[in-house]
Amino acid sequence: MTRVALIAHDEKKDDLVDFAREHAAQLAEYDLIATGTTGGRLNEETNLDVDPQASGPLGGDLMIGAEVARDRLDGIVFLRDPLRAQPHEPDISALLRICDVHDTALATNLASATFLIEGLADQERQ
Ligand code: PGA
Repeated sequence: MTRVALIAHDEKKDDLVDFAREHAAQLAEYDLIATGTTGGRLNEETNLDVDPQASGPLGGDLMIGAEVARDRLDGIVFLRDPLRAQPHEPDISALLRICDVHDTALATNLASATFLIEGLADQERQ
């Protein structure tokens, strides 16, 4: 089963909820995980069933990175806030790095997230 992680910094959480609603039919077919607060919002505000990990500042990004290291994720949508420094920036860098190590698809803005989700759908049609 396709497995996708969803993460958004605070300023981007509304955008991710909208994105998830827009692609709900497709995402509902997937096994979804998320960082804690993001996952909580998705569970409350969409019909999707998301497995929330720890909150980002408490290690959630690293938990998702560990899934990448195990080759257990097909893609990550991580809507980052480019305008605000995050206290857990080292954890975020570690997640980005492990995605590059494992060649795991990672989208950090809405435009690339749309390509990622369309790419997964294409892959399933093949
Ligand atoms: P959150 O974590 O979903 O728990 O807010 C996201 C992050 O800050 O990486």
